[in-house]
Amino acid sequence: MLLALRTFLKKKISMKNMTFNKSFTQQEPIPAESIRSAVNVLRSGRLHRYNTLDEEQSETALLEKEFSEWQGSKFCLATTSGGTAMQIALRAAGVKAGDKVLTNSFTLAPVPGAIHTLNAEPILIDSTKDLVLDLEDLQLRMKSSKAKFMLVSHMRGHLVNMRSLVKILKENGIILIEDCAHTMGAYWNNVRSGNFGSISCFSTQTYKHLNSGEGGFITTNDSGMMATCILLSGSYMLYEKHNSLPKKSFFEKKKFEVPNCSMRMDNLRASILRPQIKKIDANIQKWNDRHHIFTSTLGKLESIYIPQRSKEEKYVGSSFQFLVPRNWSEINCVEFLTRCKKRGVEIKWFGNLKPVGYTSRHESWKYIKAQNLPNIPKIVTRVMDIRIPLTFTLRDCRVISKIISEEVKKIKF
Ligand SMILES: *Cc1c(COP(=O)(O)O)cnc(C)c1O
Repeated sequence: MLLALRTFLKKKISMKNMTFNKSFTQQEPIPAESIRSAVNVLRSGRLHRYNTLDEEQSETALLEKEFSEWQGSKFCLATTSGGTAMQIALRAAGVKAGDKVLTNSFTLAPVPGAIHTLNAEPILIDSTKDLVLDLEDLQLRMKSSKAKFMLVSHMRGHLVNMRSLVKILKENGIILIEDCAHTMGAYWNNVRSGNFGSISCFSTQTYKHLNSGEGGFITTNDSGMMATCILLSGSYMLYEKHNSLPKKSFFEKKKFEVPNCSMRMDNLRASILRPQIKKIDANIQKWNDRHHIFTSTLGKLESIYIPQRSKEEKYVGSSFQFLVPRNWSEINCVEFLTRCKKRGVEIKWFGNLKPVGYTSRHESWKYIKAQNLPNIPKIVTRVMDIRIPLTFTLRDCRVISKIISEEVKKIKF
């Protein structure tokens, strides 16, 4: 592979001014097995998860069992989205109106959104240049806020030192909820992301590691929390139809106290997802092969910074981030983005004060109290991001990296 890369890079002439012409948002088709299975569900007419005959297991119940086996958690509940998974999980973990919840400042809008939906208050934590929680800032804000909960968002697949995080939170009696929307399949020190906290959330939205359009999972080993989640998701008195099910006694009292929030997954989406679980490990390898091309090619440029990763971290490279030079102005950033776009390379800029597409900065979450985060202007302002859909070949990734490195060099500041 390395040799191929070297010969490829030697053919610089042919690459000069080359443009890229594939979409950055084109997913792979849904596997044939998923399509067959989805058609069977459609033919049956029984799309609702509780519409089963006698002992029959619904597609959703089977999906939950299969995902919990893959993840290595005791229980799993499938939901309508990753965002609703977070809302249910926070509530099941005990978050109530007015409670403070520590979370990342560098994340996507559904995270503060989920906290806000519970009328709880997000306390944002600063980010390091490696795009993870600043643990010193966490300790300061933990003390000043007296928060009893943390929703850690493993944003863009970057895992903070999980051993340190768990230790800090444990010492302070803080309950950890993990947002694994970007780390399904990642590990820290051989423990799978999602198995560190009391309860964890995943997304199966199109741009994540499994694709059902919309959808999400909650996993936990805690019977009480899972019983609450199942009831919150809208199980009526049909919870015994679940396969990933805590003992009946956990439901007895709660079933009259926990509201039904109607956030259930349906059998159609479950049928699309089940065959994808079998492919996820192979897909992770494909993402990492592509990600490696970006880090090895752009890692040669001295002017940009690529977030560093610990050898304890096994990540899923489904997107790639780099920081542009500290002294680039906003105009330099815009010029760089425009130049890349002209050559077909769509880069998202997390530092843009104007929220564009899926990116937004904490300053634009006007529904939460304004917070002072000194690292944001120094770090997040410089963060550039590209998604790596698996429709990109290895060659595509080389072309994109080449275009980026040529355009970085053209910026005069
Ligand atoms: C996508 C995403 C979510 C929520 O997922 P949805 O399924 O879109 O609701 C949560 N956190 C992060 C970091 C995400 O990127």
